Amino acid sequence: MAIRRKLFFTDTLSGNKREFVPMEKDQVKIYSCGPTVYDYAHIGNFRNFVFVDVLRRSLKLFGYVVTHVMNITDVDDKIIRDAKKEGVSTDVLAKRYTDAFFEDCRFLRLEPVEYNPKATEHINEMVDLVKRLIDAGMTYEVDGSIYFRISKFKDYGKLSKIDLDRTQAGLRIDSDEYDKEDVRDFVLWKAYKEGEPFWDVPVGKGRPGWHLECSAMSAKYLGRTFDIHTGAEDLIFPHHENEIAQSEAAFGQTFVRYWLHCAFLNMKTQKMSKSLGNIVTVHNLAKTGVNPLAVRYFLLSVHYRKPLIFSDEAIDAAGSAVDRLRNFYRRLSEISQLENKSANVQITSIVSKCREDFLDGLADDLNTAKSLGAVFEMVRQVNPLIESQDLTSDQAKEVISLLQMTNKILDILDDPQDVISEEIETLIEKRQEARKQKNFAMADKLRDELLSKGVVLEDTREGVRWYRKQ
Ligand SMILES: [Zn+2]
Repeated sequence: MAIRRKLFFTDTLSGNKREFVPMEKDQVKIYSCGPTVYDYAHIGNFRNFVFVDVLRRSLKLFGYVVTHVMNITDVDDKIIRDAKKEGVSTDVLAKRYTDAFFEDCRFLRLEPVEYNPKATEHINEMVDLVKRLIDAGMTYEVDGSIYFRISKFKDYGKLSKIDLDRTQAGLRIDSDEYDKEDVRDFVLWKAYKEGEPFWDVPVGKGRPGWHLECSAMSAKYLGRTFDIHTGAEDLIFPHHENEIAQSEAAFGQTFVRYWLHCAFLNMKTQKMSKSLGNIVTVHNLAKTGVNPLAVRYFLLSVHYRKPLIFSDEAIDAAGSAVDRLRNFYRRLSEISQLENKSANVQITSIVSKCREDFLDGLADDLNTAKSLGAVFEMVRQVNPLIESQDLTSDQAKEVISLLQMTNKILDILDDPQDVISEEIETLIEKRQEARKQKNFAMADKLRDELLSKGVVLEDTREGVRWYRKQ
């Protein structure tokens, strides 16, 4: 039976925390701006993607059917720049980092979303949108590039609450957009330049501007109006403001009903971004052997709208928390196998309080900090009962089933059967040691021993990996 709650989200457009009511009963349509695939994504990008993961998992837990789109920007200035630098085609570069992105997603246990449309595969939809905007008189052309004239869209600025008269001076101007009539206008279609990918289409030979794809692809997969749009907070202006302008000017109806934005991950006091050079990529983190569950826990430990600071210490602390939970789960599993029936204590109130607080946290604007707090408060209260052997097998099962429910959202806990035992860990280490000393006979023997325990090893360039034989 689905768990029901009134859900509240902080909506950037209205500036208020609003009750969530979808357009269609029990259905939610979500669009999330995805990665631009020109390099490995940094952990700051993944704060936003983990937030989005919690959003979709929570909606499902509360009984909604979710249709979720996350685009892949696979044609863009940075992709063209880096492909040129490397001497490869933009397709090759984009494919490499698209694959890397999905590998990072798997590492951090993000649920696959329903659609991951690529910009290059939706050129027709984008061209149709540009044609609509041309027909509506919203555009002008300079040297083959087509611009959106924002003075024609009276609601421009409603999301970011930006003061348009003051933005003029401070706005970053792309070098190839100097011909705009107004510096605030943005490009819909970029005229062909030598050496750049292009499409020869009715609006001209060229390629799409970045903002265009999200408006075109969301309309295709979710309709002209949909429920929730997410993104990192730096996308509010100009990207999301431009998406609103394109979609609402083209279709004449509300684009998005709830706008949710995730705050930055900071490194000391600066925002983590490529240009600042303080980058920790998920790809590199994975290579250090960090526990992905600890990274997930860390990213969930603070409400998505509040700043979060990355440090090695914070990841270590998250690792300890995750270990604590894993040990708790393991001990409960052991007790659940026993025949211990006589109850000396009651735990119903502890379990139901945890359950209620956990769900209340999620329902209140996805407050994962509160939900995690509820779980660890229960651990704190139940642990002494495990120590004093006061827990019955049925009570252990009750706690396990609650943990499993919370883990549908958090996903920071492995089933005890899947947890690598210390014995296996030691065997893998011993084999590594044997290989280092070129004692291959011993290494092979240890490999066979692991195989007999159902553990298959794989030697990769990044080191040894293991998985359980099916
Ligand atoms: Zn977007």
